[in-house]
Amino acid sequence: MTAAKAEWRDLTPYRPTTRICRVNLGDNTNLFGMPPSAERVLREAGVDSVARYPESYAPGLKRAVATYAGVAPENVTTGCGSDDVIDSVLRALSAPGEAVAFSDPTFVMVPVFARVNGLRPAPVPLRADCSLDVTGLLATGARVIYVCAPNNPTGTAVSRASLEALVAQAPGVVLIDEAYAEFSSSGGFLDLARSCHNVLVTRTMSKAFGLAGMRVGWAVGSAELVAEVEKARGPYKHAAMAEAMSIAALSEDVPWMRAQAETAIANRERFREALQGMGLRALDSDANFLLVPLRGAMRVAERMRDMGVNVRAFQGLAGLGDALRVSVGPWPLLEEALAALREALPCE
Ligand SMILES: *Cc1c(COP(=O)(O)O)cnc(C)c1O
Repeated sequence: MTAAKAEWRDLTPYRPTTRICRVNLGDNTNLFGMPPSAERVLREAGVDSVARYPESYAPGLKRAVATYAGVAPENVTTGCGSDDVIDSVLRALSAPGEAVAFSDPTFVMVPVFARVNGLRPAPVPLRADCSLDVTGLLATGARVIYVCAPNNPTGTAVSRASLEALVAQAPGVVLIDEAYAEFSSSGGFLDLARSCHNVLVTRTMSKAFGLAGMRVGWAVGSAELVAEVEKARGPYKHAAMAEAMSIAALSEDVPWMRAQAETAIANRERFREALQGMGLRALDSDANFLLVPLRGAMRVAERMRDMGVNVRAFQGLAGLGDALRVSVGPWPLLEEALAALREALPCE
């Protein structure tokens, strides 16, 4: 007798190989710290924010997001991280057994969220230059097509032309995951969520906004789509404190966020040059991390962790092979990463 579902037998919880390290460049969070306004809210929090329920469906947070995104509150849904929003979108907009299309490689949680909602993952390889295979994505027939822009783990930008072509021809909804949009030279695609009835754009407080531990994400789209997604989520997805801190950050600390993002982008390009000097070629990146194709990346990352530097290693990515993904932050941390990498590289 087992309680396990046969379909889930090979599913395992997400456990990136990581260790508590002195320098953590493994998860693309904001290494410059947290927004000052959010810190103030945290320090001044009273008993009510702990002992009482927050307002259901987070209307205060929706208003703050709406102002930031240039939409009305009824165009906003929120969740416990954008992970949770993506999970709710898949559940809300697909019937059991249907396909969910996405590029390969992309965000590792997407096929997992598809499967736990009884959906069929339909991966479509990126083209050789890491651009979107629009025809391939459409050929799956999926009613939900997920696009990560900029893409994780490659860091590559998604072109406006390819996204617009996809949105124009998609039989259903295009879900654009913009976890890294604040670092993108394109400025993101919120305008598509505002103008197209079949587009949802997700964003997060976890990366540029420096609040990963608070678990807050959101999506913007037409009021009709948002209302469907809200059916798939519970009423109390945020700790009251997380909601209050996110509202403060969105209302008061957008300039703080932009300044950190600019520094991250400058350091990213400086880091790329330093890697080049070591004979390593990182992919072009539009995000706050670099992907470095490197044979034996798993072992290199293990040796770096021995030296107190955590980076993310990928094995056998489609079309790219093994690779290291390194988050970009304050320059002294990147110098430590370079030193550890130099030591850890196999001599050939
Ligand atoms: C980090 C990340 C997220 C989500 O993070 P949350 O903390 O759940 O908001 C979503 N998509 C991608 C591609 C990410 O890298």
